[in-house]
Amino acid sequence: MVGANMSGTGRWLTPTGGYLQGYSHSLNPYVGCTFGCSYCYVRRMPIGLFRGEPWGTWVDRKKADPGKLRAELKREKGKGPVTVFFSTATDPYQPLEADAGVTRALLEEMVAEPPTFVLLQTRSPLVSRDIDVLSRLGDRVRVSMTVETDREDVRRIIAPSSPPLAARWRVLRQLREAGIDTQVAVSPILPHTPAFAEKLADVAPRIVVDDYFRGDGSGGKRSAALGMKELHNKNGWIEWYDPSVADKLLNALVKLIGREAVGAGADGFAPPVR
Ligand code: SF4
Repeated sequence: MVGANMSGTGRWLTPTGGYLQGYSHSLNPYVGCTFGCSYCYVRRMPIGLFRGEPWGTWVDRKKADPGKLRAELKREKGKGPVTVFFSTATDPYQPLEADAGVTRALLEEMVAEPPTFVLLQTRSPLVSRDIDVLSRLGDRVRVSMTVETDREDVRRIIAPSSPPLAARWRVLRQLREAGIDTQVAVSPILPHTPAFAEKLADVAPRIVVDDYFRGDGSGGKRSAALGMKELHNKNGWIEWYDPSVADKLLNALVKLIGREAVGAGADGFAPPVR
């Protein structure tokens, strides 16, 4: 039932209440997500459960008209800086976006009424379709592309419906060549090859590393409840289910690109200080 229904409150911007470091609002163009990553925390949250259908099998458009975002931005900007995390509970470039174009329409509204900063968080190569709009947002936008591993065999087991890694690497290069600010989000870090740090350093000016322990907001309990430890064990990867794995990659990245270009955990996603 992909895209058959419409959901939501009719508003686009949701105040974060401070739970996202440095962001005043979150923005989710869809409800649900057909990438259905096994480690996704949203699958156990009310928004992931209300349809009573398995997470990853459905996505709805929201009720709101994308054209309304401009007025919302104007109103919120009157109260202070508007920093937007786009998106927290769906992927803005999941397959439905190719036809629906909701994310693109929202970005166009942002061009007309620019927020202070917007972090566009995705794992989909479809973001390259919107390079023209992103260029018009200039340094107010950063594209954060999730690349949890450089091992396609691992991705196929842990996030089989998510886009192949080769396409993500390709689009990161394309975005950078187009002058769009980019970062890689290694989130959550998964089993990878010894060359991962160098590949990351080669492709993005900024890298954020997160894991099952720092990133789930509960010291690892939410990841454990999702069965991530068992999944690693079953595949012979149990030594990768450990906080030292992220520390090792972080140290390697700091050596390669410098401390200021590397972020860890939720703080790593914070907007640039200007
Ligand atoms: S892409 Fe993001 S929102 Fe979608 S299932 Fe994966 S982690 Fe969850």
